[in-house]
Amino acid sequence: MPLREIISANNALKFRKALLLWFVKHRRPMPWREKVSAYRTVVSELMCQQTQIATVIPYFNRWVKKWPDFKDLARSKESDVLASWAGLGYYNRARYLRACAIEISQLKILPTTAMEWQKFKGIGPYTAAAISSIAYDEPVAVVDGNVVRVLARIAGVKKVFSDGSTAVKYFTPLANHLVDVQQPGDFNQAMMELGALVCRKANPSCSICPVAQWCRAKKENLAESLPRFAPKKRQQAIVHRALIFDQDKLLLQRNPSDVKRLAGMAEIPEVDFLNNDFKSQKSWVRRRTIGSVTYEENINLITLNSSIRLKIKKQPTLEWVAFKHIKKAAITGPHLRWIEEWINLSDRPERGKAL
Ligand code: SF4
Repeated sequence: MPLREIISANNALKFRKALLLWFVKHRRPMPWREKVSAYRTVVSELMCQQTQIATVIPYFNRWVKKWPDFKDLARSKESDVLASWAGLGYYNRARYLRACAIEISQLKILPTTAMEWQKFKGIGPYTAAAISSIAYDEPVAVVDGNVVRVLARIAGVKKVFSDGSTAVKYFTPLANHLVDVQQPGDFNQAMMELGALVCRKANPSCSICPVAQWCRAKKENLAESLPRFAPKKRQQAIVHRALIFDQDKLLLQRNPSDVKRLAGMAEIPEVDFLNNDFKSQKSWVRRRTIGSVTYEENINLITLNSSIRLKIKKQPTLEWVAFKHIKKAAITGPHLRWIEEWINLSDRPERGKAL
C-alpha cells in the first residue's frame, strides 16, 4: 500500500485538527515565533540546523539586533558574521546566510516559494519548505529528523534506512499528504514540536500524544524502536596542536576562505609548521566530534623562541591575536573554550583579566 494511503483523507483531516489544537496549547515560546518574517525564519532555520534551540536563542536575539534585515546583513563583513556565529559550529551556514542576504538585497521581489528559496546556496529542501510555509503559507511539508520519527511511528514503517536523508525522501510524500493547506507553517512547526516534546527518540510520551489514535507503532508496541537506521561507521583522528603565547598575544591559524571545512575560521595551530622542532612544556587532550569523525586533539603548550618565531613568519595562515580581541577573532567554539579554560587555569592571572 502506498504510504500516503495509510491515513485516509478523512483521518488526515482529524489528524491535522488534533495536532494543531495541541500546538496552540503546548508550543514553546521562541523569538522567531513572536514576530514572523522571511528574514527571521531564514536566520532561525539556519541556526537551528544541528544545534539545540536553547543554544540558538541568545545567538538569534543578538543577530537580529545587530542585523535586523537582509539589507543590514548584506552590508556586514564576513569576519564579523563568522565571529557572531562562533560557538554554533558548521560555519558555512553563516557564510551562506550572508551570501543569501547579499543576493536578496539586490532583488526587487522577495522569493516566496520553496522552489525559489532552494536556488540559494546553503538552502536545501528542508529549509526552503520551512521558509515558504512559515513566512508565506505555502502548503509544503517540512521534513526533518523529528518529523521522520513521528511519521515512521504513525505509519509503523519497519524498513531500515541507510541514513537520515534517505528517510526524509521516503517520508516526504506522506508529510505532504498530511500538511494543512490553511495553516502549513503552524502544521509544520507542530509536527517538529511533537517530535521534540512528545514523540521523543527515547521514552516517547504516547499516553499524552494528540495523534496516538492514528499511530501504528503505538498499537504494535514498537514506538521506541522506530525509525530504524543502519549503524553508522565512526572514524577517529588524532591532531597535535601548538599553544604559543607572546606576551599578551596568542598564535592562531586562520583557515583560507576556500577550504571546505571551517573556512575563514581560526583555531589553535597544528604543530606541523614546527617540523617536530619543539618541546612541550605541558600538554592536555580534548575531544570533539565533527560529522562522523571524532577528533582527539592534543594541545601542547610551547615556549616561543627565535627559531619558532622564524617559522611563524614563513606561514601566511598564522596570525597573532591580542587576548583582548580573542572573542571577536572568529575562533571555532571548542577552541575558544579551550583557550579560555587554559587562560583561566594558568598561573598568569593577567591573561584571564584580559578576556
Ligand atoms: Fe509518537 Fe507515541 Fe504519538 Fe505514536 S503515539 S506518534 S509513537 S508519541
